[in-house]
Amino acid sequence: MAWIWVFIFSVVWAVSLWKILNSSPIVALRAPISFCESGETRERKKVLFVIAHPDDESMFFSPSIISLISKGWNPHVLCISAGNAEDKGSLRKEELYRACAVLRIPSQQIIILDHPKLQDGFDQKWDHGLLATLIGEQMTILGIGTVITFDEFGISGHPNHRDVRLGLRKYLCEAKKKDDAWELVSKGILRKYVGPIDIWLSLLHALLPHLSQTRCLLLNPSPCVTYSAMAEHRTQWLWFRKLFVIFSSYTYMNTLRKVNY
Ligand SMILES: [Zn+2]
Repeated sequence: MAWIWVFIFSVVWAVSLWKILNSSPIVALRAPISFCESGETRERKKVLFVIAHPDDESMFFSPSIISLISKGWNPHVLCISAGNAEDKGSLRKEELYRACAVLRIPSQQIIILDHPKLQDGFDQKWDHGLLATLIGEQMTILGIGTVITFDEFGISGHPNHRDVRLGLRKYLCEAKKKDDAWELVSKGILRKYVGPIDIWLSLLHALLPHLSQTRCLLLNPSPCVTYSAMAEHRTQWLWFRKLFVIFSSYTYMNTLRKVNY
């Protein structure tokens, strides 16, 4: 009887993927959002992705990057560390540039800080004040008004992801910046690994009455691009990450939550 369940799962998977590929890539949940606005200049449509490690952009944020580019946005990437936990930092920097080329982000729009006090590792506690200063400097230089990063759980629970969020939050709070700030919503394990099927759960979840914050759903019009981008991270491209990219709902969609400071 197992084959019946495999068949049903495959059909639901195919229908869900069809829905994603044939929907508008940006769906406002609850309220109008800046991502849906039109008529802005390219200069005003800069958006900064603040990530912790090379591969975060492909593994977690690629639906946002690809869908926003399709709507005329101009993404920049600020990567805090070089991912040097296994002494492969120089290789991983190059991999980030190659992956971003696949995602159509120009190399001059990628910044890798690689600060000695902000190095990759589960046991590394990053200073939120230092992060706030460095992130603020880059946002000022670039003239960024819209920023996207991790939420309080950091998708995988990695402490570096959580610290990036707290550093950005500290900068925005202390500078009293009214930037358009968004966090990528973490999901439970079931929703994380049902691939495109999570579109139905994401839409239903947004209807829950206790969720008052503005949210949007960004759908990936080209999941194959995510796979190709992640494949450029050759030091990370192990069998379990290949499976992750196929089955992770973060390959197919991102739910972003607007943060007000
Ligand atoms: Zn990471």
